[in-house]
Amino acid sequence: MKVTDHIKNSSQTIFSFEIIPPLKGVAFNDICKGIDPLMEFKPPFINVTYHREEYQYKEMGDGLLKKISVRKRPGTVGISAALMNRYKIDAIPHLICGGFTKEETESALIDLKFLGVDNILALRGDPIKSEQVFTPSKGGNAYAADLIGQIQDMNEGQYLHEETKNNPSNFCIGAACYPEKHFEAMNMKTDLEHLKKKVDAGAEFIVTQMFFDNNKYFEFVKKCRAIGITKPIIPGLKPITTLKHIAFLPKFFHIDFPESLSNELNKCKSNEDVRNVGMEWGITQSKELIKNNAPVLHFYTMGKGTAVRNIAKEIF
Ligand SMILES: Cc1cc2nc3c(=O)[nH]c(=O)nc-3n(C[C@H](O)[C@H](O)[C@H](O)COP(=O)(O)OP(=O)(O)OC[C@H]3O[C@@H](n4cnc5c(N)ncnc54)[C@H](O)[C@@H]3O)c2cc1C
Repeated sequence: MKVTDHIKNSSQTIFSFEIIPPLKGVAFNDICKGIDPLMEFKPPFINVTYHREEYQYKEMGDGLLKKISVRKRPGTVGISAALMNRYKIDAIPHLICGGFTKEETESALIDLKFLGVDNILALRGDPIKSEQVFTPSKGGNAYAADLIGQIQDMNEGQYLHEETKNNPSNFCIGAACYPEKHFEAMNMKTDLEHLKKKVDAGAEFIVTQMFFDNNKYFEFVKKCRAIGITKPIIPGLKPITTLKHIAFLPKFFHIDFPESLSNELNKCKSNEDVRNVGMEWGITQSKELIKNNAPVLHFYTMGKGTAVRNIAKEIF
């Protein structure tokens, strides 16, 4: 079922979360150990992130180095199918522009259609570690809006090299957004204009980057509505659980901690102290978002379901 239908059919805020494909060699049953404890909160869908290749240099023994492409976390499509089969709920695979030609994107979309996947979160992807700026693959999509356009074309029966009007796909397409602005955007206005392009290209729901200040989300939603973006805007939440998160989350995700949160985090001496602060914060944030009719609370587990479960227990 489409995310938009799940939202329409639900009289209350929906619980959802995202999982990251594990490192190579991990069995599906091991992933389920992190998912099973979250199923009591009845998520109607689970997102599965996509991780592109990285480049490494391998010693060839003769003083020469060989550049090799390594994919550490493959399996987004396979995990999505396995999730749907095991839990009888929807999976939302993430699909990115980076590393894909348009032909490869079309092949991935055809596989997802065969598997009965109804929703896709369409993203550009970040630059790979060795690049300063994002470089699209030759013959690939440059921005998420272009990828959304390609999926929407397929929804209208327009494949890359032929028109197959009697066999269109019917994907519900999601896009990402940034209540604190995407780090590359010149300013919030241009970022919002680019978000509008994604919606105009066919995005039917929008998921935010994590944020810790609900006012930023509320302001952002207002700005979106003011420029005619009417689609559901799903808040993304991340429980802070370790001392490392204090420096890592703002740096990596380009987000701020509000002062009242940073004051509490500054007092923490151990991971346990941080977990307690993070959980209290997550619960308060969630309650306020629900009170303000957020359609879904989308949790970033980043492989750590326990903290999400502790928050969900208090909310759902
Ligand atoms: C909910 C969510 C889930 C994510 N999941 C994944 C994942 O699974 N795998 C992964 O690799 N990454 C993931 N990311 C990270 C994402 O790929 C990065 O944030 C990436 O840098 C931007 O992706 P986007 O889809 O928002 O890009 P876009 O919407 O293409 O925007 C990228 C930047 O380009 C600007 N821009 C857009 N269009 C134009 C234009 N026509 N001209 C000039 N500038 C333009 C935008 O303002 C923005 O600054 C996720 C992010 C979020 C919020």
